[in-house]
Amino acid sequence: MPAGLDPWGAGIPEDYARLMQEFGIERFEELLPRIPQPHLLMRRGVIFGHRDFGRVLERMVGGGRYAVMTGLMPSGKMHLGHKMVVDQLIWYQSRGGEIFLCVADMEAFSARGIPYERCREIAFEEYLLNCEALGLDLEGCRVYFQSRSAEVQGLAYSLARRVNFSEVRAIYGFSGETHLSHLYYPMIDVADILHPQLEEFGGPRPTVVPVGVDQDPHLRLARDVAAKFSEEYGFLPPSSTYHRLMRDLFGGKMSSSRPDSALFLTDPPEVWERKIWDALTGGRPTAREQREKGGDPSRCLVYELCLYHFRPEDRELLEMKERCEAGEIICGECKREVMGLVRRFLQELEERRREVRPKVERVLRRIHP
Ligand code: SF4
Repeated sequence: MPAGLDPWGAGIPEDYARLMQEFGIERFEELLPRIPQPHLLMRRGVIFGHRDFGRVLERMVGGGRYAVMTGLMPSGKMHLGHKMVVDQLIWYQSRGGEIFLCVADMEAFSARGIPYERCREIAFEEYLLNCEALGLDLEGCRVYFQSRSAEVQGLAYSLARRVNFSEVRAIYGFSGETHLSHLYYPMIDVADILHPQLEEFGGPRPTVVPVGVDQDPHLRLARDVAAKFSEEYGFLPPSSTYHRLMRDLFGGKMSSSRPDSALFLTDPPEVWERKIWDALTGGRPTAREQREKGGDPSRCLVYELCLYHFRPEDRELLEMKERCEAGEIICGECKREVMGLVRRFLQELEERRREVRPKVERVLRRIHP
């Protein structure tokens, strides 16, 4: 496995520029002038790279059909890192993208041993409810569970006949200890990514997969496989965008498996406040020093919360940065301000979850009776 890119790992790639060069990822900022009203993660450089996004952009701007594909693994609670992907889906949905949302229960089973019935419960309470509450219209998406999709499983099996063990080992670093369901799982993932282009799901068309950069191994394999089967199925290589990984409150990769440092959408405000209070900041050792020399927002995880999620107005974010750097505000005051924003967000989200519950139950009954 090349250093820094492990879809099942818990690290943060340290040098995004090196990763881009090593894996041939293109710079996203060059496309920005062509994107009407880019998403805040785009204009703030959080989405920093892409493969073939121009093809999707042409359709988006020109009014043609394109698909957007993503998966959520129901292995724990939904956190802010997951929200970043959902925010992008909402943006694409408002721009005519056909959204495919996969509940990756086979991945949760294969990688974490979570039984399928439990995956269904987690998917509903944590992921689907929050997706709808955040603003994604699930009835306008194709939402499905991997374990219930004969099309995805059948496609995975068909595509697997031209992928050999050496290839997946080179991409994922599998060893002799890797169990067979984990070995086979990448083919399910490839089928998830490519199945929107099957005739029964709309036929070949540009498809974008918005991912954290650690998911690039899946994309590389899917693009190789799409090329091998381009004549048989007419597949276009899937496009992708890459965002920086959301860091947890101590600077690691935000993950459901590290509950003390991740921020979960269904946790009560008091839990968020306690965690934010303990978060790493770019502050100075003493209040006096901070007033004299200013803080460093680039190292601050509270600032990062606002950059990614809680200060959607660029002007307000800039003001926060300037006040910090000038020493006009110290970390305690700043955290209290951010907690106010967070509390409002959580209260509204909880209310929305209550409102959309009957609709999401309907969706779930249809896709996983
Ligand atoms: Fe972070 Fe705010 Fe402290 Fe600046 S003042 S380092 S932005 S918490």
